[in-house]
Amino acid sequence: MYLIFFLFSFLLFPGCAQEMETIKKGEFVLGTLGEIICVAEKATCETAIEKAFREIKKLENLFSYFSKNSLVRQLNNAQGKPISVGEEFFAVIKKAKEISKKTGGAFDITISPLLKTWGFYEKEKPIFSEPHSELIKEKLSLVGSEKIILDEEKKSIVLKDKNMAIDLGGIAKGYIVDRAVKVMRDEGIKNALVNLGGDIFCLGKGENKSFWRIGIQDPLNAGRIVGSLKLSDKAVATSGQYENFREIGGKKFGHIIDPRSGYPVETDVLSVSVVAEDCLTADALATAIFVLGKEKAEPILKEFRAQAVIITRTGKGRHLWVSSGLEFSD
Ligand code: ADP
Ligand code: MG
Repeated sequence: MYLIFFLFSFLLFPGCAQEMETIKKGEFVLGTLGEIICVAEKATCETAIEKAFREIKKLENLFSYFSKNSLVRQLNNAQGKPISVGEEFFAVIKKAKEISKKTGGAFDITISPLLKTWGFYEKEKPIFSEPHSELIKEKLSLVGSEKIILDEEKKSIVLKDKNMAIDLGGIAKGYIVDRAVKVMRDEGIKNALVNLGGDIFCLGKGENKSFWRIGIQDPLNAGRIVGSLKLSDKAVATSGQYENFREIGGKKFGHIIDPRSGYPVETDVLSVSVVAEDCLTADALATAIFVLGKEKAEPILKEFRAQAVIITRTGKGRHLWVSSGLEFSD
């Protein structure tokens, strides 16, 4: 869940004196550490950061699977009836449906019944037994984004089967990063970084007009990085199986489910970091590519004009694959 990223900027233009300050604030949001860095005049930054965190908390409530008043909860309890969700939430679900279609169903927010069956909603019970294959088959019949019916006019949504449920865990952080960035922009901020537990947007440049540098965590060595990306006006999000998993009979099962099988993904992929124009896309694609594996990544990245760093396990350790055009250095 929580990815430790090392954020630092490079001095590309020494001697270029600016009256700007770099203001950094952290808060615990969305079950992770949220961090905003702002480069501008101090008071402007402080106001913008405060407003951005307020927006993050407001959206967290709407998008959470657990929170009592969330739209997700309302939809999941609707028993096949339409729910009016408003323009913003509607647009996110529409996007999630589109990404599901373009990834051949590898990314699918209707995966929720399987997350439940596999015990991922039980915080207190880390060890449990593997669900029966018949039960997995039954829950799989509830999965499929084509069963989310959208009414453009009314901005309302129906989950076709009353036992269906959605979970925005693979997309919410990314989307909320984008919204926080919009708040910062609206406050006149041109250079900032918003990081929600590893889902990041780099707005403009960092201190001293240098590019933002985002460290990619080494999945086999917590606290170390394998290299860093040089980014400006881009988002990056990472999916990996190394932080959030359940143990059954000594075997580790990660929290990303393969919608084709109903089982937690078993893969040689250790982590996928996707760079995209917006963080919602980066977040969803990282999850999708984690499901599909490195071999199927390229056409999907191309379709979304995105790039990636994919780390896979090899006999000797790990292998790094980096999209052409990415500025990555180790
Ligand atoms: P993290 O939350 O660690 O950043 P991801 O962005 O990859 O990781 O999201 C994983 C979350 O997405 C899971 O906890 C679950 O809520 C949800 N999820 C699991 N499998 C899928 C899937 N195939 N498609 C869409 N969402 C998924
Ligand atoms: Mg994701």
